[in-house]
Amino acid sequence: MIKIEHLDKQFAEHHALQDISAEFPEHQTTVILGPSGSGKSTLLRSLNLLERPERGQFDFDQTHIDYSQPISDATVLDVRRRTEMVFQQFNLFPHLTVLQNLIEGPVHVLKQDRAAATDHAQELLGKVGLADKADVYPSSLSGGQAQRVAIARSLAMRPEYIFLDEPTSALDPELELEVLKVLLQIAREEQSMIIVTHNMAFAQKVADKILFVEDGQIRFDGTSDEFFHTDNERIRNFVSAMT
Ligand code: ADP
Ligand code: MG
Repeated sequence: MIKIEHLDKQFAEHHALQDISAEFPEHQTTVILGPSGSGKSTLLRSLNLLERPERGQFDFDQTHIDYSQPISDATVLDVRRRTEMVFQQFNLFPHLTVLQNLIEGPVHVLKQDRAAATDHAQELLGKVGLADKADVYPSSLSGGQAQRVAIARSLAMRPEYIFLDEPTSALDPELELEVLKVLLQIAREEQSMIIVTHNMAFAQKVADKILFVEDGQIRFDGTSDEFFHTDNERIRNFVSAMT
């Protein structure tokens, strides 16, 4: 399990994360909700060490980080090996085919045998509904297809957790749906995930747990059911404004 305690992150005058503590249970999907600028990306990026809070503790099973201390390269590598980040803008390698995108990490980073990596990649492309796209280049894919490839590529690394920062916000609603369906299926298979999204219907379906962040603080931490049935006026207003 990933657990953080007392995270503080300051950007110049702006206190982006203020004493954030939370748990992200294994084999569950935790959804992070909140208005723009509330600190959601900063929180997610802190878990992947793309952002370094000034203070706070991070525990990922046996791996412990005190953000106020220097973090060793070995620790950064350990965390990055065990997690995968999926971005809004897909970030596929444009000069590689879809299949090559999927086997690049497994072969060069994980040192997997190329034949085994290729078999796994084909299987994952089937899972995201793109078995017929193995040999095309990313430029010929729709945004929805590109994001499904990015998700398959993250799964190819067999990460313990996948972090997704607004994975569908660059997509038209129709293309968004095909990506959300894939994520729902992966969640059902108990892949540990942390997802930032603005899609309330999706959040309600996919989340085991919800964190609501506002002004760099966690204002709600509970189950999806509790969140969508809360009496909290602020949360009810947020949900209805977003729906
Ligand atoms: P969210 O993802 O919820 O929209 P962010 O985590 O991206 O919010 O940002 C939280 C706040 O921190 C925002 O006010 C943003 O402008 C500020 N911020 C984020 N990254 C930086 C940065 N690299 N430098 C300065 N300010 C930043
Ligand atoms: Mg963001």
